[in-house]
Amino acid sequence: MTAVNLLDFDLEGLTAFCDRLGEKRFRAVQLFRWMHQKGASDFDQMSDLAKSLRAKLAGVAEIRALPLLSEHVSSDGTIKWLFDVGGGNAVESVYIPEDDRGTLCVSSQAGCAVGCRFCSTGHQGFSRNLGTAEITAQLWFAEHRLRQRGAGATDNGATQRVIDNVVMMGMGEPLQNYAALVPALRTMLDDHGYGLSRRRVTVSTSGVVPMIDRLRDDCPVALAVSLHAPNDTLREALVPLNRKYPIAELLDACLRYLDRAPRDFITFEYCMLDGVNDTPELAQELVQLVRRVPCKLNLIPFNPFPASGLKRSPRERVTAFARVLQDAGIVTTIRKTRGDDIDAACGQLAGEVQDRTNASQRLEQRRASIPIVAAGPGVRA
Ligand code: SAH
Ligand code: SF4
Repeated sequence: MTAVNLLDFDLEGLTAFCDRLGEKRFRAVQLFRWMHQKGASDFDQMSDLAKSLRAKLAGVAEIRALPLLSEHVSSDGTIKWLFDVGGGNAVESVYIPEDDRGTLCVSSQAGCAVGCRFCSTGHQGFSRNLGTAEITAQLWFAEHRLRQRGAGATDNGATQRVIDNVVMMGMGEPLQNYAALVPALRTMLDDHGYGLSRRRVTVSTSGVVPMIDRLRDDCPVALAVSLHAPNDTLREALVPLNRKYPIAELLDACLRYLDRAPRDFITFEYCMLDGVNDTPELAQELVQLVRRVPCKLNLIPFNPFPASGLKRSPRERVTAFARVLQDAGIVTTIRKTRGDDIDAACGQLAGEVQDRTNASQRLEQRRASIPIVAAGPGVRA
């Protein structure tokens, strides 16, 4: 019998598992705290669990992290970890330290089926969904690895949390891996787990409309929506999923989400592509479009990679674009590029590990038929 990986469970799932072993709920809480708050991976470390229980657990369960392939530390303190998820696939997590907090960028899939034009994960094609344990293990590993190195230590000998912000902005489309995502989010939020605030766990999506509604009902956390274009013609060329869920439907879903969201705004992400989506006219069109949704705009300087054939917008064009939005009263930030020297930018992950030539070729052929227009205001065809 293969051992059950306890990282697969949120607290409710672990309670049900303990129940099957004839153990009470408070045992599940103890176990959960050992795993997530103390980083234990060995049942023998769990000194307040009876020896008999530890032996029982060791017979049927394990706490199995992802095998680490590499660790790269950038000159600005950003750390990129590459994990082996089997079958020649790898996923990445990126830790971004800031003065007052630490953010972890987490992956949800090996590859991605959405195939956005400007995304290196999208260019790899889709390999497979990660399981809950594989999503949770990224935070488990990062938090405790950083603590082992002395991060989070306080003067009085206690240990503080190192990561207080999680963004599902690594590889993959989290809302196309919904069943595995939700228990991982619950573990992040649970006071016996990582105790993160709902406002500080962000799901980023390219716009899987029905799943935005489900997330609102099941586990509302902060929502970021990758918009990238103010009209359907241009967005379809950049984010193929737009053909299934066009912008108007996506914005309606955003409004419904805000009924329950822990924040009173949606973050729209907009990757700035030279000569593609970065003109002042498009900024004006964006202003008109997003007016009806309480939102903030996050402009992301494109991280170029050779196969994309795209370039990063020049700095002045990004600031001019931001100014149009700001002048219209929309809170707009320009994302700082971090970890440039280690290719750590979220959304640009793990491509070099894979040889998915066939998938990439198929995708290239499909893309070749989609014209990318340096458009003025567009009308949906
Ligand atoms: N699939 C989800 C989350 C992962 S991508 C989504 O698309 O939202 C996280 C963010 O990185 C998205 O906003 C995505 O558009 C952006 N991104 C992808 N490739 C990028 C690149 N090469 N440069 C800059 N941002 C990129
Ligand atoms: Fe997938 Fe997001 Fe990349 Fe698009 S940007 S291909 S949805 S990971």
